[in-house]
Amino acid sequence: MAKEEINIIWLKRDLRLGDHHPFWAAAQSDFPSVILYIFESSLIQDPHYDLRHFRFIWESLQEMNLGLKQYDLSVQILYGEVLDIFKAFNQTYRIRNIYSYQETGLGLTFKRDKAVARFCKNEGIDWKEFFQDGVRRRLYNRKVWTKIWEEEMSQTILPIDFVALHNPSTEWEKGNWKLDESFQQAIATPNEMFQPGGTRYAWKYLHSFYKSRGKTYMQNISKPFVSRKTNSRISPYLAWGNISIRQAYQFGMNQGDAIIGKRNHRQFISRLWWRSHFMQKFETDCSMEFYPVNRGFLRLNRNDEKGYFNHWKNGTTGFPMVDASVRCLKATGYINFRMRAMLTTFATFSLWLDWRAVSYQLSSWYLDFEPGIHYGQVQMQSGNNGYNTLRIYSPTKQVTKNDPDARFIKKWCPELKDIPNHLIAEPWLLTEMEQTFYNCRIGKDYPRNIINFRKATKEHKDFYWSIRQSDAVQSKIPKILKKMVVPNSSKARSAGLITGKHNDEIE
Ligand SMILES: Cc1cc2nc3c(=O)[nH]c(=O)nc-3n(C[C@H](O)[C@H](O)[C@H](O)COP(=O)(O)OP(=O)(O)OC[C@H]3O[C@@H](n4cnc5c(N)ncnc54)[C@H](O)[C@@H]3O)c2cc1C
Repeated sequence: MAKEEINIIWLKRDLRLGDHHPFWAAAQSDFPSVILYIFESSLIQDPHYDLRHFRFIWESLQEMNLGLKQYDLSVQILYGEVLDIFKAFNQTYRIRNIYSYQETGLGLTFKRDKAVARFCKNEGIDWKEFFQDGVRRRLYNRKVWTKIWEEEMSQTILPIDFVALHNPSTEWEKGNWKLDESFQQAIATPNEMFQPGGTRYAWKYLHSFYKSRGKTYMQNISKPFVSRKTNSRISPYLAWGNISIRQAYQFGMNQGDAIIGKRNHRQFISRLWWRSHFMQKFETDCSMEFYPVNRGFLRLNRNDEKGYFNHWKNGTTGFPMVDASVRCLKATGYINFRMRAMLTTFATFSLWLDWRAVSYQLSSWYLDFEPGIHYGQVQMQSGNNGYNTLRIYSPTKQVTKNDPDARFIKKWCPELKDIPNHLIAEPWLLTEMEQTFYNCRIGKDYPRNIINFRKATKEHKDFYWSIRQSDAVQSKIPKILKKMVVPNSSKARSAGLITGKHNDEIE
């Protein structure tokens, strides 16, 4: 008997029902469609990922299934490797088309996609990959990119005819590809410390940002305590595709500056542009997952010779701003940009830790982990480009500037709660009497500082500069700039999209 012909809608980081090209395209086809999400065993084991990510995905899928129910459709949630599952489907059915978005992902998913492409070619399956996020594959020169981005963001959102989508007449037996019971139980257990997954929440955050929270967006953006409320907080929703960047952009442009003010509105929109910019960089050179963007920096030889990594990872460095940021990020999946930058520069310059180890750890903590932004930022903050202004954030100064009332530190390092705010940044300077008086023995209740920040950072910075000025680094810069940096576009600047001093810098 001839096999039933089907389409597969393969969901990845696009967990939504609106502004969705693969759904739209499948609805134009006469073949029945299977909607698939695969929890990939290799990704579950990958050091970039953590339970928090899979829980967010699970919550997003549950919400999608609620929306699809009225059309008698649902996402089939499977566990295994994509290629094996596609092969199994192709035994029961004849797959005619696979619809998905192009993924600007890790080396692992790129390799998987190449294997899927080979399989499709051999089996005569048409794999239609749609682009998204303002990112283009094989774009080796950034001159035209801002125009492409603006056009994509302004495009009309296509309505999806879900009624036209229909299930295959024969059922598919999940068999070996079912979710493991303990894994399912773990991801299906909610955790109130984290932002919940799903499109409904994405819109809720966007609405409240433009309705009121965004009024003090720029004023508070670097402050770890208040910015949790005044930043948009849409990053996990964009990262897992609960909302498309185009939806966020069009919503923001429609709201405009009436309530939150011109500066806050422009800066928000410019960050959406930056998001795509970093993702495009990663799409162009995904080797930055493994090597410094500027290979001249291979000679830096950062390492964990002194065993500092665990202190950094456990939030026990003795620097309250670093420890509070780590503890907060671990517990909630979120910390603001400035503290992310500080954690990275502290680890890679002050502690001289390898940027890859730091990157894995941070990505597993960020609920909004997005490989393109993450690797671009980690490379930049750890000085691996060789052309950016080098900013190393002092954890002591960050207290005075961004947590002067110590609300953030006292929340996440409660052992410091009795110390007066003006003494809290450098607890190792407390006298014996002060330690007794403020109920905090340094080295017992709270760790002693593991390094002398100034001395260690200066030593490493001097060495870094000796390498940075070398021909091995300098000779590579023109090529990198041509490939990675958007040429000075006056249009993008006047539209408020580029805001940093350099076209590759952002605060
Ligand atoms: C070392 C390091 C790693 C980072 N890793 C990630 C990551 O994995 N995923 C991620 O989404 N962001 C990452 N960022 C960027 C930034 O810190 C977060 O996007 C931001 O804190 C998210 O909060 P928000 O949604 O309230 O941002 P808002 O300030 O409200 O900005 C709106 C959106 O713009 C984008 N955006 C904001 N800042 C930046 C930026 N500097 N570069 C690129 N896009 C930006 C995000 O999608 C964000 O959701 C990283 C920053 C650093 C320094």
